[in-house]
Order: sequence, then C-alpha cells, then structure tokens
Amino acid sequence: QYAAQIIHDESARLHRMVEDLLDLARIEAGRLDLNQRSVQLDEILFGIIENLTVKADENDITLTRNLPESLPRIAGDGDRLAQVFTNLIDNAIKHTPTGGTVAVEAVAQNQELIVNVRDTGEGIPPEDLARVFERFYQVDKSRQGSRSGAGLGLAITRQIVEAHGGKLHVASKLGEGTVFTVWLPL
Ligand code: ATP
Ligand code: MG
Repeated sequence: QYAAQIIHDESARLHRMVEDLLDLARIEAGRLDLNQRSVQLDEILFGIIENLTVKADENDITLTRNLPESLPRIAGDGDRLAQVFTNLIDNAIKHTPTGGTVAVEAVAQNQELIVNVRDTGEGIPPEDLARVFERFYQVDKSRQGSRSGAGLGLAITRQIVEAHGGKLHVASKLGEGTVFTVWLPL
C-alpha cells in the first residue's frame, strides 16, 4: 500500500509537470485559448480554498478567506482562473512555516476585481522579486530539479492573468511574508 501511494503521488506530480510544460508550449505558440464564460470568482476561490485546506492543515498553517457574499461576475475562463489561484495559494502554503497564516481576500473596486493572496512566510529577497515570474526561476537554488516544482507556476499564472486583460504583482518582506495581487477587469 505504501509503494502504491508513492507511485500514485509521483504520477500525479509528473502529470502536473507535463500539463505545465504543455501550457508553456501553448503560450509560446500563442495558443493559450481561453474558454470565456461568465464566471463567479468567489465560488471558484471558495472551492480552491476548500481543497487546499487539507494541505494547509497538514502543515499547521491557517488558511483564511475574506470574500464578499457575492462578487460581480467577470468574463473569463473558470478553469484557467482556478489554475491561477491554485498556484498562488499552493506557493504561499509551500513557503510558510508551521504556525503561519495564508489569507485570501477579494474585493470589487473601480471596475476591477482585486484578489490578494497574503502569507506570513519566509518572504522573497528584493533582488529576486522581479525574477520570480521568469520560467524555471526558483529563489532557493537547492530546490531546483527537486520534487518541489519546476519554477513554472508563476510564469504560467502571469500569462493567464494577462490573457484576461489583468495584472499580477508581488510585494514581499524577507522574513515577514509575501503578498501576490491579481487585478481582473470587470
Ligand atoms: P511550480 O509552480 O512549477 O511547481 P515553483 O512553485 O517553485 O514550482 P513558481 O510557482 O513559479 O515555481 O514560483 C517561483 C519561485 O518563487 C518559487 O520557487 C519560490 O522561490 C518563489 N515564491 C513563489 N511564491 C512564494 C511565496 N509565497 N513566498 C516565498 N517565495 C515564493
Ligand atoms: Mg508554484
């Protein structure tokens, strides 16, 4: 059973990596086609947070949400937007030590939907801040090629946000935490 579990986890990891590489190839070929619908982002966020709460609990991290009752609908690709916020929240959990907090908050303001993913984690050194959106870039060089990801998540995430006409920014303080902010047009 133990061996089967390892095989299962490893194939899930490989599957995710292949999907990421395909996404990157699609982006490069200008073929990241969005399946645009009217989406309710608070429902998407709610579902992702439900899913990732297990992972947060395992690491003794509090995952909180501050979402209004109902956000205005936006035009977008629900699966792609789910990928954006899964990447950001997953990163935040990965880089926050035990006992920390990851908070997701969303507001509608000035014809924009603004989502913050805030953590009380290790932070990102100022010299690396601009580079985390580059493909394969990982701050902790010792993680490169390890099982903790390939450094593709944020590169893909930014492309998806920009394909929606939005913006993705990061602010961070070393040793205090990081906040990623997504703006999406209403
Ligand atoms: P992948 O997403 O492909 O599984 P990854 O998570 O390492 O791998 P990215 O999501 O692109 O890759 O993130 C790039 C790097 O940015 C990470 O390796 C990490 O060093 C840094 N980083 C991202 N989010 C955070 C965060 N919330 N706190 C601290 N560092 C972060
Ligand atoms: Mg990632």
